[in-house]
Amino acid sequence: MIKNVGGTEIKAKHRASCHCGTVVLELDLPNGIVDPRRCDCSLCRRKGAIVASVPLSGIKVIQGEESLRLYQFNTRTAKHYFCSRCGIYTHHQRRSNSSEYGYNVGCLEGVNPFAVGTVPTNDGVNHPADRSK
Ligand SMILES: [Zn+2]
Repeated sequence: MIKNVGGTEIKAKHRASCHCGTVVLELDLPNGIVDPRRCDCSLCRRKGAIVASVPLSGIKVIQGEESLRLYQFNTRTAKHYFCSRCGIYTHHQRRSNSSEYGYNVGCLEGVNPFAVGTVPTNDGVNHPADRSK
C-alpha cells in the first residue's frame, strides 16, 4: 500500500487524466496505490506503464468518455482503454481478474511514477489464462 509518492499524497478519491486532459477519471484509492507493477506481455512491453489495481467500481470516468477508445487483442477478454486524441493508455479491465481494472499510475494527478520505487514485473509472457489447465 503506497499512500505518498515523492511528496504527493494519494487521496481516497484521486483524479487521473490522459496527457491532453480530454479524459479525466476519478479513482477510489482508500488504500493508496495497490499492487503496482510492470508487465512484459506484448502490449505492456511496448507501453511501459506502471499499472496498479482497483475494483471495477473504483473508476469513474468524469470527463471525456466519448474520447476513450477500446483496444482488444489475442483472446479479446481484456479491455484496454486509451484517449483517442493523445493516445495515452488510461486503464484496462483485466483478463486475469475481470472484477478489476488496472490503471496507469503515471496518469495520477501529481504523481511521478518513477518515484514509486522498485516495482515488480509481472510475467505477462506466461499469462495465467494461457497456461494449460
Ligand atoms: Zn488525451
